[in-house]
Amino acid sequence: MNAMALPLLGMVGLVLAELFYQRMRKGQAIPWRDMVLNLNSGHILMWFFRGLEVAVYAWVLKSFSLGWAAAWHPWAVWILALLVWDLGFYWMHRLHHKFALLWSVHAVHHEGEHFNLSLGIRNAWASSLTTLPFTTLPLAFFGVPLEVFLSVSILHYTVQFYNHNSIVERSGWLEKVLITPAHHRVHHGCNPEYLDRNFGGTFLMWDQLFGTFQPRIADVPVQYGVHQPTLSCNPLWANLVPLLRYARLPVPHLTRGKPLFPGALIGAGGLLLFAVVAYYIYREGQWPQYAQPFFFAIIFIATIALGAMSDGRGWGLPVWLALAAAALGVLPLCFGLRDGWGLGLLALWLIHGLAALLLVLCRTHHKES
Ligand SMILES: [Zn+2]
Repeated sequence: MNAMALPLLGMVGLVLAELFYQRMRKGQAIPWRDMVLNLNSGHILMWFFRGLEVAVYAWVLKSFSLGWAAAWHPWAVWILALLVWDLGFYWMHRLHHKFALLWSVHAVHHEGEHFNLSLGIRNAWASSLTTLPFTTLPLAFFGVPLEVFLSVSILHYTVQFYNHNSIVERSGWLEKVLITPAHHRVHHGCNPEYLDRNFGGTFLMWDQLFGTFQPRIADVPVQYGVHQPTLSCNPLWANLVPLLRYARLPVPHLTRGKPLFPGALIGAGGLLLFAVVAYYIYREGQWPQYAQPFFFAIIFIATIALGAMSDGRGWGLPVWLALAAAALGVLPLCFGLRDGWGLGLLALWLIHGLAALLLVLCRTHHKES
């Protein structure tokens, strides 16, 4: 069993709490489709590559490490890891904005037009692969132990997740030493005053040192998003279109149509699918050999089917239903009928698909009569 499943569910709980809080406080409509794409964009493939990143770290540490950190005091190792990771992140992030190929990966994160915690989860499928040379390999070469690397990574990613919240406006004296939500909002601005500024992850000093720091200007509101957005809520197109543009290959004509059913029901589908990913990770190491790739493929295709339904494409719904039925049919063969959590979750997925189908059929009937 993998303990990462619980923090994942905690993250989604915070995402929802923030959206409902802002709805109550400011009367803002919940951007369900945007939230679902944010949760879905990297999803299971990104988590797979994160696992690969950890495996590569362990291998490099064992085979190629210079072993410098081994002789150091543990506190020195922690401080080194904290700073080197953050410096590596700064340059990784800056170069992702500078070079077109790297930007075609990072653009997935910047295309989000609503600044909230779910944007902190939005990343490209390949984002872990392009960060490898910057934050992972240097620490492995230094000989920083795997558990220190993992703890430091989790700490930095937690700060970055927090920095995408829409609630905290100002952070007092912390604004002088750390990247705060206010500083990171500036980074997401596509207006000229804010473009390519504030690349830091946790500490502010790298932006100050390398001349890229820009505080928020009082009378210049941040314009979120990118100048050439991908007009789709489908993670397949969100990931592929920037790469197709980079390679100068034909880009399909995309439109963000009316969703197949109300946004809240799309949102429920996204939350259920994210919970299925958490369950998949929770079962890591227990899956029968034949079943793991099967479930991986089911979840991956489901992200695309849900994206298609968000875009108003009819084919998404039968695929979504078929995937839920297939997953529910195969799970008892893996863990028997006593796996209440797993079976309950997949049954909810199937019920969601059936409810959506009923709604679509009722609407069609209503239109015809
Ligand atoms: Zn960026």
